[in-house]
Amino acid sequence: MLAGKEYHVSASIGVSTYPDDADDVQTLLKNADIAMYRAKEQGRNMFQFYAAQMNVHSVERLALESGLRRAVERNELVLHYQPVVDMRSGRIAGMEALVRWQHPEKGLIPPDTFIQIAEETGLIVSIGEWVLRTACEAQHAWEKSIGQPVRIAVNLSPRQFVIGDLLKSVTRIIHQTGCNASCLELEITESLVMHNRERAVALITQFKELGVSVAIDDFGTGYSSLAYLKRFPIDSLKIDRSFIVDIPGDADNAAITQAIIAMAHNLKLRVIAEGVETLEQFTFLRDHGCDEIQGFYFSRPLPEAQATALLQKSFLNKS
Ligand code: C2E
Ligand code: MG
Ligand code: MG
Repeated sequence: MLAGKEYHVSASIGVSTYPDDADDVQTLLKNADIAMYRAKEQGRNMFQFYAAQMNVHSVERLALESGLRRAVERNELVLHYQPVVDMRSGRIAGMEALVRWQHPEKGLIPPDTFIQIAEETGLIVSIGEWVLRTACEAQHAWEKSIGQPVRIAVNLSPRQFVIGDLLKSVTRIIHQTGCNASCLELEITESLVMHNRERAVALITQFKELGVSVAIDDFGTGYSSLAYLKRFPIDSLKIDRSFIVDIPGDADNAAITQAIIAMAHNLKLRVIAEGVETLEQFTFLRDHGCDEIQGFYFSRPLPEAQATALLQKSFLNKS
């Protein structure tokens, strides 16, 4: 118990044995350390024995880790923006900011490769701030050049949600960038909400007071507890790509998708389908009342200049 709150502690253990894994103290400890990191990667609260091939993996990882530390300072991170399209008007309703790492040797690295490392090392706090600031700047610039509000969605990872003062940093960044708070949507995942229920309710409520909206990302892959949907003051649901990928052919996923849309509407939530790639998927979603779609069918994530051009085209043609 700390200051009246209950905290749970778990242990991750790495094991290396003498003389199989090494015959000096330093190497034994180093190998135990590597095995311990593997135990954390595998979900924590467990043990792992050292295996020689972990070393290869860990050297690669160390290189990524130290590169990532410098990536923010060296301006190697970039945001791409993927349009979210309104089904009824056919117009762009907003953009989702997706981070990439422009690595000097390895080229463009997707977020799946480094967000987890950023999380484990705590670097996610500074990366997350940079993402939020850059996305808010883009929102401000777009609204100015187009003359109409443009929504921007920003992903938050679990660690950002738990450590640091997220509310303070969101508030500060909105003020500093001139971003229209009512156009900012923060995307969080189900598991994040479920692991920190009390904090989640408090934070989401405070975001709403700022005018910022909150979406549940990758909906349907986590707990999918319907009770929390009612309790949390969220604005929208993004149906996970895994359900969309084989509709309308797969009867189960088609039924699940339909059910999510109906349920969200009953709860007065906006529904967005992710990963829409084909006309068949698009038609199915439109016929079942899905509000917005996002996916390669309309556009891949684009570098800022191209995203700006697409926005201008969408707003000028159809306004
Ligand atoms: P997400 O938030 O669910 O983002 C959607 C992902 O699906 C993006 O991958 C996007 O490129 C991809 N996608 C969009 N449409 C299609 C489609 O039609 N077909 C297919 N196959 N894929 C599609 P990306 O950019 O690689 O991002 C992956 C994940 O990394 C994101 O999933 C998000 O969870 C995380 N992420 C991205 N940027 C950030 C960030 O700034 N902060 C944090 N914490 N996480 C981020
Ligand atoms: Mg997202
Ligand atoms: Mg998603």
